[in-house]
Amino acid sequence: MENLKFVMVGHVDHGKSTLIGRLLYDTDSLPDGRIEEIKEICKALGKELEFAYVMDHLQEERDQGITIDTAQIFFRTKKRQYTIIDAPGHVEFVKNMITGASQAEAAILIVDVEEGVKEQTRRHAYILSLLGLEQVIVVMNKMDLVGYKKEKYEGVKKELLKFLESINIKPKHIIPISAKKGDFIARKTSKLSWFKGPCFLEALDDFKTKESPKEKPLRFPVQDIYSFDKRIIAGRVEGGIISSGDRIKVLPSEEETVVKSIEEYMKEGVKKAEAGKSTGIVTEDKVFVDRGFVITHTKDLPIVTDTVKAHVIWMDKKPFDKNERLLFKCATQEVMCSIDKIEKVIDSSTLEVIGKDADTIRNREVADIVIKTQKPVVVENFNKIQELGRFVLQRKDTCAGGIITNINNINKV
Ligand code: GDP
Repeated sequence: MENLKFVMVGHVDHGKSTLIGRLLYDTDSLPDGRIEEIKEICKALGKELEFAYVMDHLQEERDQGITIDTAQIFFRTKKRQYTIIDAPGHVEFVKNMITGASQAEAAILIVDVEEGVKEQTRRHAYILSLLGLEQVIVVMNKMDLVGYKKEKYEGVKKELLKFLESINIKPKHIIPISAKKGDFIARKTSKLSWFKGPCFLEALDDFKTKESPKEKPLRFPVQDIYSFDKRIIAGRVEGGIISSGDRIKVLPSEEETVVKSIEEYMKEGVKKAEAGKSTGIVTEDKVFVDRGFVITHTKDLPIVTDTVKAHVIWMDKKPFDKNERLLFKCATQEVMCSIDKIEKVIDSSTLEVIGKDADTIRNREVADIVIKTQKPVVVENFNKIQELGRFVLQRKDTCAGGIITNINNINKV
């Protein structure tokens, strides 16, 4: 069954957990008896049914190590299965998105219609736009608190749209809902009869899953080399298809050879490996290859350069100091680098430009920078092949995540 991954973001207390709990309930995705348990707990506390407890419950199970998958929640509609990527904090989410740990194909931005647009609403929306997430649904939650009034919805919608336009996000739908009462989640209800759009699940089913990465040019970042009776070059195919007999190029060294065989553990006669697959290859010639190299076909090549222009999001309390050297990690490559230029620093909440030609980047600031790597790296624009277009910068831990927007001064080796 088809699967679509999405992330849910929004200001704290605007209703993410409640909406997730409600979605699981309305799509019958909760284990038997779970909702009764939660009803009991709420009753004992003298409260109404609180769907956010569903999430707390999941969290407890995770803490006890009961559920195997720690960051993902599933439900299904008639059309397909969905995975909600849990975003515990936005820094965590950005890290996961940029490192590829969680590949969201769509995003839900939740706004409490009573409170309106808040700091995190803006910040999260901006991050979605940086990450190039184009499929976005906005839900205006807690419509029950404003008497389901259209004017209130229209007011917040207007303010939000003005902001979203400025960062180039065009939401597919802006749906008034009440996660608590269940209006316009799985069903249209008469309380919001003035709204002519789809309910939330219908809008989700309208989204498209990502185009298949196997249609893209071949990108095979090398993870390891194993020498048994033959030398196996191992990695994960990130784009395209690699087949035995293919003429290939090894970057950055630019040596060419031919794929002699595709090697898969405990499998004979495998002839090809498609994007998404981890595999091993044996080459005709003993070309020089190392971890971090990228194997491609001989046409439609990525870029080999030591100068990369990028957007970064600083995610460390300790600011960047101009003289620092950092580790640049992109796909399986790890190279020391410096930041040669900080062209612009932007406050990710107000979008105000706080500095030009700056010397530092502080926590949660977004900057346009120029990176100089100590050795040539194999990279790509983010919107072409994400795996080679995103990177992290590290001190001891990850301190920034970035997206390659433009590649300067191509230095062929
Ligand atoms: P989160 O921080 O975004 O996960 O927010 P929660 O889901 O924990 O919700 C915060 C509070 O808002 C909780 O007390 C919820 O019961 C309440 N809440 C969430 N959605 C609605 C809604 O549609 N209507 C009303 N009245 N309260 C809601």
